[in-house]
Amino acid sequence: MHLEKRVLVTGGAGFLGSHLCENLLGQGAYVICVDNFYTGAHANIAHLRNHPRFELIRHDVCFPLYVEVDEIYNLACPASPIHYQRDPVQTTKTSVMGAINMLGLAKRVGAKIFQASTSEVYGDPVVHPQPESYWGNVNPIGPRSCYDEGKRCAETLFFDYRKQHRIRIKVVRIFNTYGPRMHPNDGRVVSTFIVQALRGEDLTVFGDGSQTRAFCYVSDQVDGFLRLMASDDDVAGPVNIGNPDEFTMLELAKEVIKLTGSKSRIIHNPLPADDPKQRKPDISLARAKLGWTPSVPLREGLRSTIAYFDEFLSREGRAQAQPLAALPGELA
Ligand code: NAD
Ligand code: UDP
Ligand code: UDP
Repeated sequence: MHLEKRVLVTGGAGFLGSHLCENLLGQGAYVICVDNFYTGAHANIAHLRNHPRFELIRHDVCFPLYVEVDEIYNLACPASPIHYQRDPVQTTKTSVMGAINMLGLAKRVGAKIFQASTSEVYGDPVVHPQPESYWGNVNPIGPRSCYDEGKRCAETLFFDYRKQHRIRIKVVRIFNTYGPRMHPNDGRVVSTFIVQALRGEDLTVFGDGSQTRAFCYVSDQVDGFLRLMASDDDVAGPVNIGNPDEFTMLELAKEVIKLTGSKSRIIHNPLPADDPKQRKPDISLARAKLGWTPSVPLREGLRSTIAYFDEFLSREGRAQAQPLAALPGELA
């Protein structure tokens, strides 16, 4: 019998999930990590495998799951554009069927349930910065739709289960988050620029690089998750969690070159379809309801992330490093 709080983390072998599992274990919880290793990696949780309060289940959330838990964090879903666009039908299934199964589980056992939603629900936003009250500007049939609409439908399901079945829900809208254990080949801008700079390759800025993003360091993001889960039951969200410091992609590329001391140059590649032109969270709600505010500035977070990838590439051997845009699951 477990006397500790039992917490299920779906997508627990991924980038954010592995940091969350680690923090929950640190708080004394019994952690059940569920993952199908589509984009997650055994290496991300290798240091947790022998922990007496850690359990790993290989499972796809599109199928029912029967476990007895007190809290559920539903993070399972590929998150980077090249990963979620590789099998778009599976991406929508994971978001929608995964949400239904985890909500059904929460309903049966009376667990509190957290959903990792995304700033992508705002699409290519015309309101800037984005408050939670903004309904977004989303293309329902474009290359990003499997992810954006899947996550929007999951939010709908969460709020309808709350209304219909009185489930305790917590919905976070995550803005671009980075840090150690990002997948080196997932094409996300921070990992891509750092890996390119460390290998001395050209940094590939898409379009003219004037599009903006606001980057949150992983420790700040996970702190936001834990505060939201611990908040009063009337705080269901959605709540934006992200760092409001906004940068153009050209500024980010220059900063990465500076911090790595790389001789890499910047080149421009075509801008992908439906790439949001600007994004920055309004975090007034998180400040007011959770007392949350990010504490790690971009430069500091980039330094730690660069150190992680530097070590990672040394281990892998820079010369044999895999090409970018490699298949999901290959690091598993
Ligand atoms: P990630 O790809 O590293 O992690 C996702 C994890 O989910 C992986 O371990 C993967 O194997 C697992 N997974 C995928 N499909 C699954 C399925 N059907 N069944 C079980 N496991 C499955 O990505 P991440 O950055 O850690 O993202 C975690 C969550 O946060 C995702 O839901 C993502 O949409 C959300 N999010 C992340 C960001 C960000 O900037 N990192 C931004 C917005 C939202
Ligand atoms: N479910 C699950 N684990 C549970 C309980 C339910 O995976 O412990 C799944 C179940 O397979 C179902 C889904 O969650 O398809 C939704 O459950 P709900 O009770 O809301 O709906 P119903 O079972 O009536 O379809
Ligand atoms: N981007 C870029 N070069 C890259 C990868 C991405 O310029 O090699 C840009 C991309 O076009 C987008 C931004 O960086 O405008 C963030 O992309 P990412 O895939 O990290 O996340 P998004 O916020 O678009 O989901």
